[in-house]
Amino acid sequence: MRIYNTETRTKEELHVREPGKVAMYACGPTVYNHIHIGNARTFLIFDVIRRYLSYSGYEVTFVQNITDVDDKIINRAHEEGCTPAQIAEKYTEAFIDVMHRFGIADPDIRPKATEEIPSMIELIELLIERGHAYEADGDVYFSVRSDPDYCKLSGRDIDELQAGARVDVDERKRDPLDFAMWKAAKPGEPSWDSPWGPGRPGWHLECSAMAHKYLGLPLDIHGGGSDLVFPHHENETAQAEAAWGTTFANLWVHVGMLRINSEKMSKSLGNFLLLKDVLDTCDPAVLRLLMLQTAYRSPLDFSDERLAEAATSYDRIANVVRNLDWAAGNAPDAAGCDVSALVAAVADARRVFVEQMDDDFNTAGALAAVFELVTAANTFLTDNPGLSEEARDVVRSAAATIGELLGVLGITLPTDEAAEDWPPELVDLAKRFAGYEGSDAHEALDALLAARDAARAERRFDVADGIRDGLAELDFTIEDTAMGARVSHGS
Ligand code: AMP
Ligand code: ZN
Repeated sequence: MRIYNTETRTKEELHVREPGKVAMYACGPTVYNHIHIGNARTFLIFDVIRRYLSYSGYEVTFVQNITDVDDKIINRAHEEGCTPAQIAEKYTEAFIDVMHRFGIADPDIRPKATEEIPSMIELIELLIERGHAYEADGDVYFSVRSDPDYCKLSGRDIDELQAGARVDVDERKRDPLDFAMWKAAKPGEPSWDSPWGPGRPGWHLECSAMAHKYLGLPLDIHGGGSDLVFPHHENETAQAEAAWGTTFANLWVHVGMLRINSEKMSKSLGNFLLLKDVLDTCDPAVLRLLMLQTAYRSPLDFSDERLAEAATSYDRIANVVRNLDWAAGNAPDAAGCDVSALVAAVADARRVFVEQMDDDFNTAGALAAVFELVTAANTFLTDNPGLSEEARDVVRSAAATIGELLGVLGITLPTDEAAEDWPPELVDLAKRFAGYEGSDAHEALDALLAARDAARAERRFDVADGIRDGLAELDFTIEDTAMGARVSHGS
């Protein structure tokens, strides 16, 4: 498996620190508002990476933090007239809820910054002891020039940064490049006691401390959106490596930005769509499909047109799987079907899917492999009005393969409605048109279809149409295919 490493700018073989196990950390949200679909893209990618690593046989431990203390949370609390803790709690709940709606699995550990203050204070003390940090008026700063490796992740030029930083000089800093790890409390702000007086942690600090505490170093994989490379991840690395003298992360994965009209979606630009609102308008699987049709490092342009296209693609996949399942059970017997093309298409889809995912999680290529199989399956069904026993097995395996591969990406297909949810009027209809005496909805439907076939053969079209209309009233649609009549319920 090869993964692009932001730090080396090349695809590297995944070398894990412990055989068969992956320790992965991804930065979580700052909980001051509902997340937008740009944030959702990044969280989705880490969900898919985790699912694929598990599918490949790795045991993954995944940690994602919640930043629940921050300027933005404090400002929002002023706006909403409540406490920062109330804001954080409200939007943490909303975040977890919308992650579930989007089919994103909970991380193994979801630490909150405000509950991890002691380990952050320990990290600062270690850095002061080692000469990488200093206190000034109750703030503590990391001394960037004390770290010869600073900028190794982002590849930025430290002298250029220095020139830019001079514009915004802060008296308390020894060097304009230095960044705050601990901020002295201002009146009315949430604060915790520390050796430097009451204050709160800086954002970069929390991830270094929590990653070290919950996963140990070096992390196998660390990442977030590409906007976090500098300064957030650069600073996390600097703190962790200066403190513990070991590599912070072996592989850095960064997700490209989701854009609208070629502009990054962000809260500050005001061009954002909230994930919860988009999920009110479409199936989560459709949004996943849209997002995963672009490889994760590329920018992704979101539009309503693309969402509609994804919905069409999703319906096409769902239909072929429904048709395959139906044909396996209902198609008339036929000897000598040529299954070789479909057998080959199933094997190709599996092989190409894995090849593409092993190549830096190329979900776009992996989905293309699934679409190839969808096309081959459609062709097979059109070409074969009946199926042999062997063909039924192949057809079932094609449907199962499509479901399995999409499942690895967390894209679920609609399940057939359970018979008990079918309207009881189905039984009455079968009694009227087919002389059915029982009470089972499945049997009733079979009886109705058989009665309709018989009526058509005898050219009693009024009866055949009556059955069709009766079924339509109960939201069943009949479609006459080369393999016979098939029924779908609902949409
Ligand atoms: P935040 O809560 O702002 O720290 O963002 C949470 C995650 O969303 C981070 O990993 C960001 O890098 C990521 N992110 C923010 N905006 C976008 C965007 N437009 N596209 C993709 N990821 C984003
Ligand atoms: Zn972080």
